[in-house]
Amino acid sequence: SKEIGKNNYCFFQTELDDINKNRLEMASSLRKAVGNEELYLVYQPKINLSLNRIVGVEALLRWNSPDFGMVSPAVFIPLAEETGIIVEIGEWVLSTAIKQNKKWQDKGFSPISISVNLSARQFLQTDLVQKVEIILQESELHPSHLILELTETMAMNNLEHSIEKLEQFKSLGIGLSLDDFGTGFSSLSYLKKFPINELKIDQSFIRDMIIDSQDASIVKAIISIAKSLNLTVVAEGVETEKHVNFLHQQQCDQAQGYYFSKPVPSSEIENILKESVTN
Ligand code: C2E
Ligand code: CA
Ligand code: CA
Ligand code: CA
Repeated sequence: SKEIGKNNYCFFQTELDDINKNRLEMASSLRKAVGNEELYLVYQPKINLSLNRIVGVEALLRWNSPDFGMVSPAVFIPLAEETGIIVEIGEWVLSTAIKQNKKWQDKGFSPISISVNLSARQFLQTDLVQKVEIILQESELHPSHLILELTETMAMNNLEHSIEKLEQFKSLGIGLSLDDFGTGFSSLSYLKKFPINELKIDQSFIRDMIIDSQDASIVKAIISIAKSLNLTVVAEGVETEKHVNFLHQQQCDQAQGYYFSKPVPSSEIENILKESVTN
């Protein structure tokens, strides 16, 4: 039995080594991904529920790796964050998404907003505001057509610096959205301090709100807080007609989710924009 125990130990150790080796290999592969054009963006429509019309899209990052295949952002974003690669990737995302939105406008579609996710490490960069300002100037996109998404936890670390940064974005005319709202640990008083325009209700509350009365209450409460603070409120993970009807009834402003569209390539967004012109 001692022998077996030893073997087991060796087995698990090897497995752990494999996982670490895999992460190291993935990190070094990820480091080359930007230059190798392995990263691309897909876009998910944000729908205004009273107009039933697309008003914006959220840019979501995808990695098609020659070594690892399609890797989920839930896996590679944290890895990019830990290794610092996220800063370069984040800049690529900002610049690509902003330029794409300008391209749509140049093609004659009525202007929509582009939402870009910021990572914690990226948000800590001292020159982030300047970088965003330069990208906007170079691409000639009006700042009001950009929304930056951040999470409560990100903004709570280093509160004073965060608020200062958010104020700078605001004074440039850039929209600010608090993502995954309800899952963090923030106190409601922060909502008043942060100069944000939008709240995104986390999809975990939307998923069961039809069958779970507690989730329904939470969703209603968030919508009501958002309204009273004059914030646009967006529901994420909207998958069914029942979800849509409930949210519409509660006067939720916007919705995003598979019910309307999965995240899709830019060409498919153009088809949606074309349809919304003829309708
Ligand atoms: P997130 O910002 O909360 O994005 C929403 C996620 O929900 C996306 O997952 C989207 O594909 C998914 N989703 C949309 N509609 C539905 C629905 O109806 N049902 C369900 N179950 N899911 C839905 P995705 O694309 O896998 O991204 C996961 C997370 O990775 C994002 O969560 C965001 O935190 C992060 N991420 C993605 N792109 C970027 C990026 O460019 N930069 C940074 N820093 N993070 C990113
Ligand atoms: Ca987001
Ligand atoms: Ca979210
Ligand atoms: Ca999330």
